[in-house]
Order: sequence, then C-alpha cells, then structure tokens
Amino acid sequence: MRKFAKFSMIVATVAAALGFQSQLHAQEKVLNIYSARHYQADSVMYDEFTRTTGIRINRIESDDAGILARLRAEGAASPADVVLLVDAARLALADSQGLFQPFRSARLDAAIPPNLRAAPTPEGVTWTGFSTRARVFAIDPQRLRAEDVATYEQLSDPKLRGMICTRSGSHPYNISLFATVIDRIGDQRGEAWLRGIVANKARPPRGGDTDQIRAVAAGECALAITNTYYVARLMRSDNPADRAVAERVRVVFPNQATTGTHVNIAGGAIARHARNRDNAIAFMEFMATPFAQKHFADGNNEFAAARNVRVNNPALSAIGGDNFKVENIPLDVVARNLVKVQQMLDRVGFK
Ligand code: FE
Repeated sequence: MRKFAKFSMIVATVAAALGFQSQLHAQEKVLNIYSARHYQADSVMYDEFTRTTGIRINRIESDDAGILARLRAEGAASPADVVLLVDAARLALADSQGLFQPFRSARLDAAIPPNLRAAPTPEGVTWTGFSTRARVFAIDPQRLRAEDVATYEQLSDPKLRGMICTRSGSHPYNISLFATVIDRIGDQRGEAWLRGIVANKARPPRGGDTDQIRAVAAGECALAITNTYYVARLMRSDNPADRAVAERVRVVFPNQATTGTHVNIAGGAIARHARNRDNAIAFMEFMATPFAQKHFADGNNEFAAARNVRVNNPALSAIGGDNFKVENIPLDVVARNLVKVQQMLDRVGFK
C-alpha cells in the first residue's frame, strides 16, 4: 500500500513536471469533425473558429455515404463530435438512423430559419442547415435555348439527344434532385424520365459538376447539371481560362414557372456519441455567425442560411441567384425515396 502511494506520488510529480496537467487541459480544447464539405476555401472558417475559441479542429473528410458508414461502424467508439454533410436527404437519413443527438441553442434558433433545420422535438434539434445551393443547368446558348430546358422534366426530351453532361447519377446532389422530381411525377413516369436522361447523355458520367461545365464550354455537350456555386467559382477564378469557360455558358434556373428550382442544404449535426459536446455546440453556433455565413456566400459562393446576414456576391447575382423560386418538397420525402431512386438508376443503367 505504502509502496503504491509512493509510486503514485512519483507518477504525479513526474506528470506535473512534464506539464501533463496542461496537456490534459489542452486536449479538452479539441473538436473532431467528420466532414463531407470538400471546399478548399473552408479552411479560413476553421482557422477563425480555432483563433477565437482556442479549440483545435481535427477533420476527417469523406463523402456523405462514407461518413454515415463510418459513424455506423464506429458506434459508441466514434470520436466524431460534429458531422458536416452536403445533402439534406443524408442529414435526414442519418438522423433517422440515430447517428445524431439533439441539442438546444438559442443562437441557432434565432439565426437559422426552421425550414432549413430538422423538426424540433422537446430535446431540441438534431441537425441544422448552414448554407444552401441550387441545382441548375449550365447550357451552351449556341446549341440550346433556355426555353427548351425550362424544367427538369424536359431533360428527358428526345430533342436533347446526345447533349447532357452530368456527374454520377448516384451522387447525393443528383439523387436528391431526382427524388423530388419523381415525387412529383410518380414512379412510373419518373423511371421513364430517368431512362430518357440516360438516352440524352453526351458521354458516360465522370468528374464533378465543374467538369461538366467545362465540357459544355468545350462543345462536348450542350447542357450540364450543376450546383450554382461551381459556376460562380469559375466566374470569380483568378485563372482567365476558368473565366472563359464561365463566359461560354448560360445558367438556367429550372422550373421557375412551375414548381421552383431544386435547392439542397449543406449543414451539420452533433454526433450521437460526441465527447466534446460543448465544443460541438460552440462550433455549430459559430457556423451561423455573420463571419461564417459571409464565408459560405463570399468564400464558397453558396447562399447563406442565416436570417439578417446581408451578403452580396456579384457572381451569384449575375446568374440570377438573388431572387428565384425555390422548390418546396418536404425533406423526409426525399430521404425516404433515396433507396428507391438508386434502384431505378440501376434499372435504367444510369451510372
Ligand atoms: Fe460540392
């Protein structure tokens, strides 16, 4: 016993001498983020959070599906505190699988409109959007008129044979878009619509949205399906070749005269087994501050989610992003249809 006490004392002394105490304290100022945000410009935001709070960020990046699979596999052992995803349907899906925990924040309640967040329960809210982006068409005005592609439904029009470039159909940006269209027009017409898009493709899907815009500028296709920020990024690029690409395309916000353009949410949640919960809440609140919100708009050309944050992004304004009709379909509809849409994509051979 005495021996043990003595040994403990030595350990304690040595630990103190090594500054173990302060190291322990430092370890508390940590936040582990699993992120599907793949935007270089975001580092400005993470650096500012660390500078103002002293909380160090460890970031693991993957795509939405990869992050959800990892959270499920890790279970209670997961080190994840905050989860950032770039698709509302995946946020809703992860939530339904119990991968998040509810939390309360008066700041977030005040900042983010309820339609961009999970439905509140007595325990709080499980996830919240931080920014939005519209899924639009970038067309070659020499080959297509905007009125020929005024709606998503027109993507299957045989007039568009050999004209469409898109990234993989299974990418969350596309699956969520397809799920909303199919919810409107029904399963049977929806599957025929997907088959029509496959028939209209200029080439097999490859690359991201920017690659599709470049292919339009290069004359390989006449229409690219893309998120708004990829167009704005090319417009604002330091590289003249990128700006030249942007100048060759015209942006169409589909379904303006009908159901509205499909808008997706990028947002975050606190992981079910988060160990650094207070830091996680601080981070979530930081993401709704004017600093972070302006970053989403100015730094990554997204639309800010917070109320009362005035941003002016000339590139987004130039393509018509200031005032457009937004599609209004409940998120859980999209989340519930993800598997069905993937099965349809497999049946029609939409890679
Ligand atoms: Fe993206």
